[in-house]
Amino acid sequence: MPLVSSTSMLQAARSGGYGVGAFNVHTLEMLQAVVEAAEETGSPLILQSTVGTVKHLGADYLAAAATTAANRSSVPIALHLDHCTDFAMIVHCIRAGYTSVMIDASMHAFEENVAQTKRIVDIAHAAGVNVEAELGKVGGVEDEIIVAEHEASLADPLECARFVQLTGVPTLAPAIGTAHGIYKGMPHIDFARIQRVAELVTVPLVLHGGSGIPEAQVKRCIALGMSKMNIATEIRIVFSDAIKQVFKDNPDENDPRKYMVPAKKAVKEAAIEKMRMLGCFGKAADTR
Ligand SMILES: [Zn+2]
Repeated sequence: MPLVSSTSMLQAARSGGYGVGAFNVHTLEMLQAVVEAAEETGSPLILQSTVGTVKHLGADYLAAAATTAANRSSVPIALHLDHCTDFAMIVHCIRAGYTSVMIDASMHAFEENVAQTKRIVDIAHAAGVNVEAELGKVGGVEDEIIVAEHEASLADPLECARFVQLTGVPTLAPAIGTAHGIYKGMPHIDFARIQRVAELVTVPLVLHGGSGIPEAQVKRCIALGMSKMNIATEIRIVFSDAIKQVFKDNPDENDPRKYMVPAKKAVKEAAIEKMRMLGCFGKAADTR
């Protein structure tokens, strides 16, 4: 099927009480790996790229690869632009074929975040593209966006409700204590806050910083109303580790297929494990 907007996919996840994995991909093999994981398990899938990866590979290349994957696939696949602060970049990606975009104006005051998000929602809606926005600030490093621990702030549930009402944004990422990158200790997830936001907001909620959250906590987040979980760091690590192992065993290896095949396999296994945790096996049929 063609690439789909993630709106209906995530609405189905929210009402069905499961989560959809959104995987940041950096190479063709990583993209193919998570697509194979989705196909083998009958899971809906969101492919994601950061602004940095768009600059590195090109929105057109990424959209072409994702479109080919979707056309060849029986599971629903969306292509999402992660954490973007730049209006022109968002329009560029929508024109290239992205079916979902994140406008991250969370560093601005509430009113400015509303104004910037509303502007993107209007454009994206006309193009049939999903929009995600953030309230509060997720800590850690995500590509070019760096938020120190003391600058991270949690989303206010009442503000979340007002924000969705004012912007009409179809998916919301409230900061609830998770962070980008790998956790040094246990993540400090504010479950009561997720619950409060979910009570006040009916749109699907997005969990950022999904790498390394223990299974029980992932399941609790999903049960409380989180419908999309972003996974970036964790698959980047398994991909790189598999390549390092090939060169450790054979420092003279010079055939990219010899190190890309095990790297792809490692990403696929990690993605299947995340999809299992999110409870989305067999849920591809929900999005038609
Ligand atoms: Zn994020």
